[in-house]
Amino acid sequence: MKKKLKILAIDDDFINLKLISSMLKKNIYIDSIVEATNGLDALNLLKSELGINLILLDIKMPIMDGIEFLINLQSMAEFNKLPVIVLTTDETRKNEAFENGAFDFLVKPIRDQELSAKIKKVIDLF
Ligand SMILES: [Mg+2]
Repeated sequence: MKKKLKILAIDDDFINLKLISSMLKKNIYIDSIVEATNGLDALNLLKSELGINLILLDIKMPIMDGIEFLINLQSMAEFNKLPVIVLTTDETRKNEAFENGAFDFLVKPIRDQELSAKIKKVIDLF
């Protein structure tokens, strides 16, 4: 039995966050979900919540956007190996996301099956 994931979901849109969480809750490989509404909140959560092993990241957010979050994450030795799946409506940010360490990329609207397939790829890393 592979280990179950603790996921940090980051999105400034409350409806998106609830939609993603409801999809994740049905996934048998997922143990728990924590939520943040911008990159800065997410960085603080990473330091206070132990055991996060996958991040789902929106790009367009106030205060600290997804790309800035990725850049910060890369500079943190304790977190820079964490897989990040970018979930965004803006397909033009794809290269930028990968250049800054994203593990995978999905274009919104997110479909349950696509998200599950991407998560399975992360599970296979462990
Ligand atoms: Mg957004």
